Amino acid sequence: MRPEAVARLLDCASDFLGTSHRAAPVRSTVARVKEGMAELFGLPDGYEVLLGNGGSTSFWDAAVFSLIERRSQHLVFGEFSAKFAEAVAFALHLEPPEVIRSEFGDHPEPEPSQGVDVYALTHNETSTGVMMPVARPAPDALSVVDATSAAGGLPVEPEEFDVYYFAPQKCFASDAGLWIALCSPAAVERIGRVADADRYIPPSLDLLIALESSRKNQTYNTPALATLLLLSDQLEWMLGRGGLAWAVDRCRDSARRIYGWAERCSYAAPFVKDLEKRSNVVATIDLEGVDAGAVIDALRANGIVDVHPYRKLARNQLRVALYPAIEPEDVSRLTRCVDHVVERLADAS
Ligand SMILES: *Cc1c(COP(=O)(O)O)cnc(C)c1O
Repeated sequence: MRPEAVARLLDCASDFLGTSHRAAPVRSTVARVKEGMAELFGLPDGYEVLLGNGGSTSFWDAAVFSLIERRSQHLVFGEFSAKFAEAVAFALHLEPPEVIRSEFGDHPEPEPSQGVDVYALTHNETSTGVMMPVARPAPDALSVVDATSAAGGLPVEPEEFDVYYFAPQKCFASDAGLWIALCSPAAVERIGRVADADRYIPPSLDLLIALESSRKNQTYNTPALATLLLLSDQLEWMLGRGGLAWAVDRCRDSARRIYGWAERCSYAAPFVKDLEKRSNVVATIDLEGVDAGAVIDALRANGIVDVHPYRKLARNQLRVALYPAIEPEDVSRLTRCVDHVVERLADAS
């Protein structure tokens, strides 16, 4: 999080935090977030910005009830994409999902398929550090994209998605607990049609209720106001500096620094071998001949946190966020800190 954003939160604590989420200051913040998202992503007329509580994980459940009509296809190439497919697999009102997998460190391609009405894509697999471009798999089904760690840091064309959903705790440098979904007219139409069908939908997972609330600049139930404020602040910061193109360049700069270092370095190497798939927002770096756990502990003891790999990937690895709020120069500094720690660990052993 940018310290200026946190300072601003403190400044408006007295007249913002604690107010009712139906009150004007909160509704105007929601309105600013909606407008800011539309501007940042260049949303065409007819696209709508929906907000709800529970983060991206809740959005998966909402999609299970409110978006998938009969069958979805999932590209699974890491923990997050696997979880959405799992949530669908247990839903008795849906047909079993089609699941296309690849090895971790790679990504599969969608396969247009009869009867699939939602293609579930992931713009960036945060667990493995693999990105894939957002492209519509089929003209007559919805392209539904988990962009939780990608939105705001990777390029995207709204024509390629019907739903682009994310949470504010990654590229938007805010706190968690909210989901945001950019929805095309086809997605809005689908939400309405599923709501009219004979299917039980829990209200907190009903996207029609979320749509109606969002149109009134509200959420169905009370949102975390600090999250909203930090999100709005980060959006204004990004827009003020050149919008999505600027943020994308900044992440690319950070990525060049860390992958360049790993390639030059004798004990490190990028985990993702294909340059096109190597993520510009989450870098995964394998270590060799050095215990990543010992490096992570030494960094943490010196105030450098959150470079651990995804637990279930079980690799001797560092994983580093390259989100827009992070100064690219800090990424370079981190690589020098890792070098410093590794040299000392080698001397000590
Ligand atoms: C972080 C993340 C999630 C989970 O987000 P929550 O807001 O914690 O539910 C889902 N998908 C991806 C790709 C993520 O990076």
